[in-house]
Amino acid sequence: MLSDFISLIYPINCLSCGEILNKNEKHICLRCKYKLPKTDFHKFSENPVSKLFWGRIGIQSAAAYYYFNKGGGVQHLLHAIKYRGEKEAANEIGMMYGTELKDSPFFNTVDLILPVPLHPKKKKLRGYNQSDFIAEGIANGMGKAFNPDLLARNAANESQTRKSRFVRWENVESIFDVVDKSAVEGKHVLIVDDIITTGATIEASAQCVQNLNGTKVSIAALALTMH
Ligand SMILES: [Zn+2]
Repeated sequence: MLSDFISLIYPINCLSCGEILNKNEKHICLRCKYKLPKTDFHKFSENPVSKLFWGRIGIQSAAAYYYFNKGGGVQHLLHAIKYRGEKEAANEIGMMYGTELKDSPFFNTVDLILPVPLHPKKKKLRGYNQSDFIAEGIANGMGKAFNPDLLARNAANESQTRKSRFVRWENVESIFDVVDKSAVEGKHVLIVDDIITTGATIEASAQCVQNLNGTKVSIAALALTMH
């Protein structure tokens, strides 16, 4: 009764469409849960995300949960996760994706899930890394190991807006480190980010993992920007 009363005064809105949630809904409404544009990329080894990395890095599998459309429901959801502290929602959406990835023949050999770390300054400013919560949710949904501390991002060397694409890429590559190599060697690692745009950041972190002995790398994000 008390919670009904509280939600009457402070209605909780769907993070995607803004409609008021009923008490059985959490973070996003049922309508959005089924209407947001899923890609189903994890059902195919060749898809727009895996093709994005062709000729750049030899990954096992790659996928994104949703299509990102500017001004659409996925953008609102990602914005809430990234900037408005909706960590639980990140976890929940990650879990929904994880339960789908678990049944994919391209992802079911994953051993370890690592989020792409934020730049330390950004993390300090924002207080959290949204990808940690997405990756943790995916790990729970898949029933796989998760560790947010194995992949690190170095603070230096990152102002790159005016550099050429090639120099920029080299720069990006050198900013990641695997902290405990023995914990990653020999594993099939799934690297998780919130959104894939050019793929440069996720490629650099994947490269850093793939340089270790016997590792395989796959990639998953919540959304893919349409080019
Ligand atoms: Zn909604």
